[in-house]
Amino acid sequence: MVTRLSSQFRSEKGRAISWQVISKDGNARAGVLQTRRSLIETPVFMPVGTQGTVKGIRFECLENELDARIILANTYHLFLRPGIEIIRACGGLHKFSSWQRSLLTDSGGFQVFSLAELRKIREDGVEFRSHIDGSRKFLSPEISMEIQAALGADIVMAFDECPPGKIDFKNARKSLELTLNWAERSKKRFLELQDEGADTGFISCQDLSGRQALFGIIQGAGYLQLRKESLDRTVEIGFDGYAIGGLSVGEEKSVMYEILEFIAPQMPEDKPRYLMGVGTPEDLLEAVSHGVDMFDCVLPTRNGRTGSAFTSFGKINIRNAKYATDSEPLDPNCACSVCLRYSRAYLRHLYQSGEMLVAILISHHNLAFFLNLMRQARQAIIKGDFNEFKRKTLEGLRRESQN
Ligand SMILES: [Zn+2]
Repeated sequence: MVTRLSSQFRSEKGRAISWQVISKDGNARAGVLQTRRSLIETPVFMPVGTQGTVKGIRFECLENELDARIILANTYHLFLRPGIEIIRACGGLHKFSSWQRSLLTDSGGFQVFSLAELRKIREDGVEFRSHIDGSRKFLSPEISMEIQAALGADIVMAFDECPPGKIDFKNARKSLELTLNWAERSKKRFLELQDEGADTGFISCQDLSGRQALFGIIQGAGYLQLRKESLDRTVEIGFDGYAIGGLSVGEEKSVMYEILEFIAPQMPEDKPRYLMGVGTPEDLLEAVSHGVDMFDCVLPTRNGRTGSAFTSFGKINIRNAKYATDSEPLDPNCACSVCLRYSRAYLRHLYQSGEMLVAILISHHNLAFFLNLMRQARQAIIKGDFNEFKRKTLEGLRRESQN
């Protein structure tokens, strides 16, 4: 399939990325995103590498076994530690970490609003104290762009304010104005940096330039009217792709689904669409059905560390006594290297013994599950039976919770 799609795919010279929708089924889309470093088939799940590492998973495993084509790294965390000067001195995040495929960095905004202490939001940026050592820091659209240029990600995100899910209309509007102002300033500084050639990454795809791509973020909390305004005005500024931010931040699930159904199909057809920080397998399928192409979430690795595995018949927790002598793999329908080799009984024993290997193995399986779910969704879209695939998969996912 990769070969056939590659030959259909034409990249545009001088662009940081190229994007093509190759198939549609209802609003669901299968696409091909080409960066300088990898060809990414969508819908795609991007494993989260918060500190420049996908927790517990070696890069060779991400490449060779899991075949992740793009991962995410967090600007906020890398800004605080090891610090941008160190990463710059080591030649950017690709060289520093040895990850050679595509990287997307977030703007740092979300973590400033969720992790940092004593935040002061001003028109020019956000002053805060580091959650690591309490030191005083400042982030602004300009600084975020400078950090992300130094990191050398293939895709960088505009700096936005991410308000809590249950914010009132008046404050949501105020926040939206600030995010739009920051989006314009992000783009301005981004373009200056691209012209200065701040990026140091090597170029493997000759048709693409050495520039980075910049995505804008649609905010507007739970208000459809604000979401639409945010979309229109963000598109007016003009970005290489568009993300939906501010979901899965404490609002009801029905609100999130309503916004996805409303806003995703209205986003530009000819640009990739990215839903930030969401979510469960059910959320991903729902979003794909409305035309979202890219996802990231910490769930596979975070749950992996607490013994919780995603399977085709719902979530299971390996701590449960019923697995003590269970010789089945985590998910008999999964062909990952963990499921091919290890039993639930053994994994449970590792968990009970506090062995670090259990976190590594379940994280691996969970990542395989999310990556495969998106690959299967893609195949279903291409075949034109996405709705049937979604219905059957959701039916399976509900099975364990009914037991
Ligand atoms: Zn597996």
